Amino acid sequence: MRSFQSDELLIATHNKGKAKEIAALLRQYVRKFYTSADLGLPEPEETGVTFAQNAKIKALSAARISNKVALSDDSGLVVNSLGGAPGIYSARWAGENRDFSKAMLKVHESLADSLDRSAYFVCVLALGWPDGHTEFFEGRVDGTIVWPMRGNNGFGYDPIFQPDGYDITFGEMSPEDKHKISHRAVAFDRLVRESLR
Ligand code: IMP
Repeated sequence: MRSFQSDELLIATHNKGKAKEIAALLRQYVRKFYTSADLGLPEPEETGVTFAQNAKIKALSAARISNKVALSDDSGLVVNSLGGAPGIYSARWAGENRDFSKAMLKVHESLADSLDRSAYFVCVLALGWPDGHTEFFEGRVDGTIVWPMRGNNGFGYDPIFQPDGYDITFGEMSPEDKHKISHRAVAFDRLVRESLR
């Protein structure tokens, strides 16, 4: 495992909200952050067929062009009875208008009366170096798809995802509680323990 030795990190995203959240999580370990938007980097096409491949494409594209170590993430909802869908297409299921009510209805209708309603959220972080080396950190949280939607917190598919061991959905959970157990929290915890300390 190659560890992160630099005091600056490029967050390979054009999404300001995501960049802010990542910088807040890693502030203790990194002196200076850049984002792809700050450096005017292009957004590479996500042509991979796995979360890891897409995370790698984003991290290495940014690292090679900028000559800085770059961190990217790729995440989504995997529904077992749907053969893993929406998976890497989680954002795309919401369409151009990012209508997640529509995407959640599609999950519900696709499941029909399927007995297996198990699902998980996954987050893969890729740390990419300008020489092409990449390290991956994965987090996963298992749960069940519920219907109707419950709760207004969070984003995306949160109102239909009930994590195992809880009787509320991510949409009903406080952000603090979600951040303690989420796929993203697990992945960042791994990154910090395995590569930043
Ligand atoms: P991306 O990794 O930023 O491309 O986003 C992946 C998509 O997965 C998001 O647009 C959401 O639809 C879904 N997703 C990822 N993480 C979460 C989560 O914590 N809650 C709800 N939906 C999520």
